[in-house]
Amino acid sequence: MTSLMLTGIAELVTNDPAMGDGSDLGLIHDAALVIEGKRVAWVGPAVAAPQADSAHDVGGRAVVPGFVDSHSHLVFAGDRSEEFAARMAGRSYSAGGIGATVAATRAASDEQLAANLARHVAEMRRQGTTTVEIKSGYGLTVVDESRSLALARQVTNETTFLGAHIVAPEYAGDPDGYVDLVTGPMLDACAPHARWIDVFCEQGAFDVDQARTILQAGKAKGLGARLHANQLGHGDGVQLACEVSAIAVDHCTYLSDADVDALASSGTTATLLPGVEFSTRSPYPDARRLLDAGCYVALATDCNPGSSYTTSMPLCIALAVREMGMTPGEALLAATQGGAGALDRDEVGHLQVGATADIAVLDAPSYLHLAYRPGVPLVHAVFIEGRQ
Ligand SMILES: [Zn+2]
Repeated sequence: MTSLMLTGIAELVTNDPAMGDGSDLGLIHDAALVIEGKRVAWVGPAVAAPQADSAHDVGGRAVVPGFVDSHSHLVFAGDRSEEFAARMAGRSYSAGGIGATVAATRAASDEQLAANLARHVAEMRRQGTTTVEIKSGYGLTVVDESRSLALARQVTNETTFLGAHIVAPEYAGDPDGYVDLVTGPMLDACAPHARWIDVFCEQGAFDVDQARTILQAGKAKGLGARLHANQLGHGDGVQLACEVSAIAVDHCTYLSDADVDALASSGTTATLLPGVEFSTRSPYPDARRLLDAGCYVALATDCNPGSSYTTSMPLCIALAVREMGMTPGEALLAATQGGAGALDRDEVGHLQVGATADIAVLDAPSYLHLAYRPGVPLVHAVFIEGRQ
């Protein structure tokens, strides 16, 4: 196996508290990193670096773990920019807008959906994202949900069945009938292409009892549970996520003290999605409160054409720092290691020896610039499984 050494690293973020400065980020200054095959083989100060077959000088830049975007909806067609403009002119956001994307997605060919998906994944890569989770949820028929997941599976193993995004228009008068479809034939068709099952548990979508039924049906088929909850108002979704040991509960904008206590004493990650609050002009979740309570916290884009049409993890980091009470270091951890936890993955989201060599090289001397220079394209190069 040939080895490649990255040299000239002004600041290396390992996310290993045993390394470097001893902080949670495990910062090493004037560092080197050796890749062997797909893995990180060595990290440390450049002066102590071993021999390698070849070297790549990153020119005094910062190197961070590739971002882990644990929440996106990239299988869709259509455009909702006019809805966005209307919202910015004062109309409020509701779950109902999803229906417009469902109609466009059903009408699109597989080739159109695949091309749109590839374009968005490429956009993510350019911004340093090396692991991405992708949900279905704009098909809402057996055929359209299963083809959405089959397409998503071609670009990531982190695929999530979200047939329970909203009640399909054909079942508008019979939501329980739709839950039967989701937990029956739709689940049967989708489970082979999915690792996770998810429900939009919110007013206007699915209530807690429906969500519990759907998550339990998915778990019985071998899928892991995750949940959209407490986005638009208070509710019992976070409690349900903890009750069923969901790997993550996403949004968490409106939380009671009991919700925070339940999260802190569970293994469930609270995934915060600040692109949504930005794009819907809504109050941001309080990351500081969750961190101070000892909860696991992740940051993700929720990239979707309605409520958060951004693929940029650096934007989410900047928003989390400016609007949600996180330090730049906490935000970077949440966007890397936090996302990995929200996908139950321990070999990504950090750069310890043995990790997958998923790496972002920043056009900056420090990771601090991710939040300090918002809106600037700071990702200079990306390595996925050791390959640039
Ligand atoms: Zn979402």
